[in-house]
Amino acid sequence: MNDERELNGKVALVLGGSRGIGAGVVRRLAADGARLAFTYAASAESAEALAAEVVRDGGAAIAIRADSGEPAQIEAAVARTLAEFGRLDILAVNAGILQLATIDTYALDDFDRMVAVNVRGVFVALRYAAPHLPAGGRIITIGSNVAERVGFPGAGVYAMTKAAVAALVRGAAIDLAPRGVTVNNIQPGPTATDMTADHAGMVLPLVPLGRMGEPREIAGLVSYLAREEAGFVTGASLTIDGGYSA
Ligand code: NDP
Repeated sequence: MNDERELNGKVALVLGGSRGIGAGVVRRLAADGARLAFTYAASAESAEALAAEVVRDGGAAIAIRADSGEPAQIEAAVARTLAEFGRLDILAVNAGILQLATIDTYALDDFDRMVAVNVRGVFVALRYAAPHLPAGGRIITIGSNVAERVGFPGAGVYAMTKAAVAALVRGAAIDLAPRGVTVNNIQPGPTATDMTADHAGMVLPLVPLGRMGEPREIAGLVSYLAREEAGFVTGASLTIDGGYSA
């Protein structure tokens, strides 16, 4: 029987796929028919369990330990994906960290780590993956709606990193357009993951829909952008936040 799923034959690399939104993206792209490599920094157990789950469901997935703060590890993850699957069609850059503190107390080491993972890590992923993407290739980053509206105290540095991602995506979209590769940024609002477990009470009043988003809802937008029918969308930052920015 022919496999007519949208991403049949495609290979995706998801940076930061072991938990939360990234794990939702891995599950969704696998369900769409893509073969998957995904990275993690620390959660080897969740990562291996997720890869096994995808394989059990009839898909293909490998988990790679690669800290997005270490450029050589990202480069190695791209190489490993190519070695394992022979091609790379979709790069989803989800790995990110959140360190909250008001600007008058923010530790410089925390600032440097935020920029290393949330900004330099995204640049390095695009830098090393882009040369391998064929026409029809897709780059999708996970930014944040706080790039548009911060809304609560302590999030300035995080918002700065996500605004940088939105700007990088606009430039990369122009650079890669001649090759038929699209580059887009998804800006989730508060989403129920480990990252927000301690902050839900603070951010929920900012969400008109009155609930947190679910990783599968963010993954649905990744799935759309990865498909052929999204080929005219590029350079966009698409916000999905329950009305937070409205
Ligand atoms: P989680 O903390 O729940 O999960 C983060 C994922 O990224 C994990 O798989 C983690 O791997 C991985 N990761 C973290 N740091 C690194 C690193 N240095 N190298 C490689 N992988 C890493 O976060 P969320 O799922 O909530 O967030 C995912 C993305 O979405 C982030 O970019 C975040 O900024 C963004 N976002 C989240 C929102 C939310 O409300 N949750 C809202 C807007 C944006 P490991 O398991 O090994 O730690």
